[in-house]
Amino acid sequence: MPENRPAAAAGQASGELDVVIVGAGLAGLYMLHKLREIGISARIYEAGSDVGGTWFWNRYPGARVDVESQEYSYSFSPELEVEWAWTERYAAQPELLKYVNHVADRFHLRPDIRFSTRIASAIFDETRDRWTVTTDAGDTVSARFCIMATGCLSSAKQPDIPGADSFSGDTYSTANWPEVGVDFTGKRVGVIGTGSSGIQTITTIVPQVRELTVFQRTPSFSVPAKNGPIDPKVAADWKANREHYRAMQRKSGAGILQVSPNETLTFDASPDERRRAFEDRWARGGFSLLGAFADVNVDKQANDEAAAFVADKIRSIVDDPDVAEQLIPTTYPVGAKRMCVDTGYYQVFNQDNVSLVDLATTPIQAITPTGIRTSAHEYELDAIIYAIGFDAMTGALDRINIRGRDGLRLKDKWAAGPLTYLGLMTSGFPNLFMITGPGSPSVLANMILAIEQHVDWITDCIDHLGNRQLSVIEATPTAEQDWVAHVNELAEQTLYLQANSWYLGANIPGKPRVFMPYPGGLGLYRETCDEVVANRYKGFALTGPDQTV
Ligand code: NAP
Repeated sequence: MPENRPAAAAGQASGELDVVIVGAGLAGLYMLHKLREIGISARIYEAGSDVGGTWFWNRYPGARVDVESQEYSYSFSPELEVEWAWTERYAAQPELLKYVNHVADRFHLRPDIRFSTRIASAIFDETRDRWTVTTDAGDTVSARFCIMATGCLSSAKQPDIPGADSFSGDTYSTANWPEVGVDFTGKRVGVIGTGSSGIQTITTIVPQVRELTVFQRTPSFSVPAKNGPIDPKVAADWKANREHYRAMQRKSGAGILQVSPNETLTFDASPDERRRAFEDRWARGGFSLLGAFADVNVDKQANDEAAAFVADKIRSIVDDPDVAEQLIPTTYPVGAKRMCVDTGYYQVFNQDNVSLVDLATTPIQAITPTGIRTSAHEYELDAIIYAIGFDAMTGALDRINIRGRDGLRLKDKWAAGPLTYLGLMTSGFPNLFMITGPGSPSVLANMILAIEQHVDWITDCIDHLGNRQLSVIEATPTAEQDWVAHVNELAEQTLYLQANSWYLGANIPGKPRVFMPYPGGLGLYRETCDEVVANRYKGFALTGPDQTV
């Protein structure tokens, strides 16, 4: 195996590369590392000034991962895994960013990353079977392969509220938080949005602020994280048995062992047993609640039981019964939107200086120079925090002018929703790979394991092509149609379609309502990808200078 070395040392001219990777988050970094292992020259272009992706941009107060730290870490290097020590059960953003930096340094990745450089376009040159990739500064590089490691939640939604520019106080976005941090001491702060980002921000800034006003359009189901210092026994056990745990993760549905799905059906248990199971999961913390029974995610009546349990918890925590009712989600099943994992969220509403504004009954009419006006009241504020989400899964790709065969723009091809084969490629765009693209498990799984599986697959594929003097791989339109139909069929068997979520693009006005991630689970998906390879890359057309294989 060739030594793992930077592209420059591989003797490549700066304008001609084997591979361009877009994004230096967890996906892009591992992709670069793997390509170097097979002697391929690659360069990452990254819009941010440093590595980290999600964990570089989302540095809002309280940002932390919602999967246990040891589970949400790279598995590819036993040495890395054994030497790194997490401090908390759910690592906070600064520690995650430190980890990503450590990985970049440990594997000497920085020489092949161009920071503060956004990719503006990627155009396929059919005469040369190469991608011409252009930066926002107008620099151009040519590459055989273009790999989009642009992230699923990296294109932040912009405030679309009338008067947003007129506010004379400070405005912040959780998705692009100032590096220096913000001190809200003595301020009247309004937070718009109560998804994961909003909830984590709210619980963290509440001790500082003079007054906090939470503007909630749709309540979230939120469960306690039960965060704290990592249990040394858990950390030691993970390291000692990492291979076993990693194998379990890879075979599992979500790649999150903490979910630990119970095989019993909800109504095979007595009401007492159900209650005990939910209590047990609530006490364990995190996503484990969704694993309390095998049918919580697929059977509405079973789901109603879990939802009712959470509703009772909210009622038991929040002192004011009216506020409690406003905080209880009633319009979608639990888990159909990404559940939030919090530290003391519902308790916040028992503080005198915190108020909840229910936008479902009193919508925002405008942002004014002094605050926010709803249909019922005007709220005077010193600062507004937008925690309003992302144009998920397709937003980051749409921002780039990606053009395949016949000049077709990806955004136009996907006008009615993303079309991919395995979430890895899209027909008409040869040699363009997506890491955790729409149609792959991605956001429904432990992202880091989903990333590793895609990166390993893509690396093997590029190696396969090189070993056989093949130059082009492209998804066939038939395989793509079948895959999209398969993903939709699987989604219809779940409760996901019953929520207006970002999984469906429902949070972005005008975005087609299409369920984007693959809901069949990471384990099954991995098997499918492996079978495709075993069947000579079934569903892909592989071509060389004068052959089709
Ligand atoms: P989100 O879940 O999409 O939440 C956005 C919130 O903003 C929703 O409450 C939404 O209300 C509200 N909103 C949007 N536009 C609005 C408007 N014009 N007026 C009023 N309210 C508006 O976004 P997020 O919180 O950034 O989380 C996105 C995903 O990122 C999560 O689901 C998760 O996968 C990931 N994440 C994970 C963590 C973690 O714990 N590790 C932390 C942050 C994010 P509606 O629901 O009514 O649209």
